[in-house]
Amino acid sequence: MTPNGVRPADATGAGDRAGHPAAPTTVAAPDHAALARRFGTPAYVYDLDEVTRALGDLSASLPTGTRVYYSLKANPHPALVAALVSAGCHPEITSSGEVDVALTAGADPADCLYTGPGKTPGALAYALDRGVRVFSVESRTDLLRLDTAATGHGVRVDCLVRVNGAAAGGSGLRMTGTASQFGVDLADVPALLDTAARCPAVTVRGAHFYSITNAATEEALVAELCGSIRTAAWLREKGLPLEVLDIGGGFAAPYARPGERVGYPGLAAALTAELDDRVAGWRDGDPRIAVETGRHLVGTSGTLLTTVLDVKDSHGRRFAVLDAGINHLGGLSGLRRLLPTSAQPIQAVAKEADDAGVDLAGPLCTPLDMLGHGLGLPGLAPGDVLAIPNVGAYGLSASLLGFLSHPVPTEVVVAGGRVVSASRIELRREPVPAGD
Ligand SMILES: *Cc1c(COP(=O)(O)O)cnc(C)c1O
Repeated sequence: MTPNGVRPADATGAGDRAGHPAAPTTVAAPDHAALARRFGTPAYVYDLDEVTRALGDLSASLPTGTRVYYSLKANPHPALVAALVSAGCHPEITSSGEVDVALTAGADPADCLYTGPGKTPGALAYALDRGVRVFSVESRTDLLRLDTAATGHGVRVDCLVRVNGAAAGGSGLRMTGTASQFGVDLADVPALLDTAARCPAVTVRGAHFYSITNAATEEALVAELCGSIRTAAWLREKGLPLEVLDIGGGFAAPYARPGERVGYPGLAAALTAELDDRVAGWRDGDPRIAVETGRHLVGTSGTLLTTVLDVKDSHGRRFAVLDAGINHLGGLSGLRRLLPTSAQPIQAVAKEADDAGVDLAGPLCTPLDMLGHGLGLPGLAPGDVLAIPNVGAYGLSASLLGFLSHPVPTEVVVAGGRVVSASRIELRREPVPAGD
């Protein structure tokens, strides 16, 4: 078996309304076989052309002028972040490490949105020091901590109130969202605004929603985002300033198996109608509309190349042992904290009826280290290279890199069919001075 890993060149390169350049109409897809020979395995390969296409396509499916935040959580690789920033994306960041990546990638700190439920005074100080000035606040404590940090720095900052309680589906508003560590319950927003009025260094500028992820259908996505728009309009009547309305996301991506990035042909029209109805000034930037996404922009750009180390039969089942496991892909799934990973390499074919297929195991000394089950991979032999597609989001950085101390996979970045960088994260131990 040879790795073919070659997707058909994409011929749709429409530019978008936010003024991002159109992608080239044909670009060579990465040659996975050649890359595996050149850099060894395990290796992640990211195709920057696909990242740019994803942003162009998404921007074209959103209402005119919508700001797109890229959530670095999905993949903080500096080259991907730089490509998205230079194409007009704003970073959505949630740690000191992500501040560093965003700024190194060329982002203006003023364009960053700092989010997350557990911001420490140290992390806030770090971000403020580097010029970040817009924060999503998740609670009264979070707001007061931000005010203290900003006061300490002698700066004023803006905040969005993260709201828990968008009404999904119907047109009514549910005051009772789901219990969550994220955001402020709808009923508690007025009290938070009272607190904010007594915070000298923080100005409330709008609302931030993030209520679903990886929406199964365009319909579900539209229902959720329209619900957030309605909730925001209602909150504005209750006194919430609404210069910025970040309606969140939920844009989908396939994961670790073949599949195409989905499109949203009806989204712009549906959101535009809801915005016209609820927040009429939005066309003049009042409020300014924003969305956030991680996986949709980078998921389809990444492929994991892994070599088969062993093929063995045991009690009627066939196992292929790979040089990549849950330490390199879907680590949280590997520990059953998420649905088990069901990776499917692009080489898999339909099975014969009497074929139990091959189970894909990683190299770790735990029976939980399984990447896929019952796959049609006839003739699989040690030395074969498999390509697991659509792992550009929540791949390497969401895995258990320290578990069993194997080397971290190489990350190869390709653009226009050429390698633009190859690097590897290194985990190393450093002494920490005792604080006394
Ligand atoms: C994780 C997260 C995102 C990105 O989620 P995706 O499913 O990767 O698009 C966006 N916003 C917030 C607040 C998040 O926590």
